[in-house]
Amino acid sequence: MMERPFNFSGGPAALPETVLQQAAAEMLDWRGRGISVMEMSHRSADFESILAQAESDLRMLLAVPDSYRILFVQASPTALNAIVPMNLAGRTGKPATIDFVHTGVWSGKSLAEAEKYAHVNVAASSERENFTLIPSPDAWRLTADAAYVHICSNETINGTAFFFTPDTGSVPLVADMSSDILSRVLNVEEYGLIFAGAQKNMGMAGVSVVIVRDDLIGHALPFCPSVYDFGNLAQHRSLFNTPPVYAIYICGLVFQWLKEQGGVAVMEQAALRKSALLYDCIDASSLYVNRVAGFCRSRMNVPFFLQDDALNERFLAGAAQNGLLQLKGHRSLGGMRASLYNAMPVAGVEKLVSYMREFERIH
Ligand SMILES: *Cc1c(COP(=O)(O)O)cnc(C)c1O
Repeated sequence: MMERPFNFSGGPAALPETVLQQAAAEMLDWRGRGISVMEMSHRSADFESILAQAESDLRMLLAVPDSYRILFVQASPTALNAIVPMNLAGRTGKPATIDFVHTGVWSGKSLAEAEKYAHVNVAASSERENFTLIPSPDAWRLTADAAYVHICSNETINGTAFFFTPDTGSVPLVADMSSDILSRVLNVEEYGLIFAGAQKNMGMAGVSVVIVRDDLIGHALPFCPSVYDFGNLAQHRSLFNTPPVYAIYICGLVFQWLKEQGGVAVMEQAALRKSALLYDCIDASSLYVNRVAGFCRSRMNVPFFLQDDALNERFLAGAAQNGLLQLKGHRSLGGMRASLYNAMPVAGVEKLVSYMREFERIH
């Protein structure tokens, strides 16, 4: 087979090559059953085993305590921006306030959606700094009886990340971890709820994972669709309705791959190494610039700009010729973005860095 290029897409993102190979090998005939996972009843023992294995592998990888449910939800993170408040805002009685820490595009979308379901308090914002930093928790204006506090642990577009877990006392902390789940060791008990779309660091688009503490389940607002009521999903172990069977299967293959790699701690070390290679290259250059404050630079998504925008197209074309794909920055920021999720090998970042140095030398 032809050597595959390195894919730096922000999402849907690259999957481990061996996962794709296994999915391909099992496409027509899953384990001698003569059918694809796509064609299986979600109530069959075979699919139930796929689901149960995926759930227990994820529980193991993130050391999720027994007091938390793991739900596979057929909803993207943008949909969860509505589903989470519909499930959690009713817990403290009306009218609920949700505290948001506004650190970029994704937390901004979350808070705009939540305004339909509760009063939103922006407890802190880095908007004035163009979202180049995470506001210091000393200055957050939290609400004492908030339904929950929402953060986006890794702003995929702006390239910032939380490298600490804020202390919100008895108010549950909710984190959108769509772009950094499984890239660093977590203490799940510090969170009330964690959600993440699969298509960045866990699998393919079509499913999200919700990890939620038991006592936060069962308070859905009356108009919450039944299929998105965490109580129903928990009671039916993610089988309230037909789940996205193939997307769950792919997550399961990725979890197996992660276990073979040595787990999340190994991914965290790799992420440190890969991101340091790229940030060092950017900081040492006079052509490339990353504007994010050093203490909160994302290890997953590295936005960078060329000092001369006129070189952008040439940079991207040359990168593609060298087998370095999807480096174009998000349309809202421009410039470039290299996403370094778990599936990106160190060799991919080394190749990117040497291409960047060579491009700078020529221009
Ligand atoms: C990608 C992403 C989303 C949105 O995902 P959709 O599948 O488009 O809904 C939300 N939050 C974060 C942090 C993301 O990276």
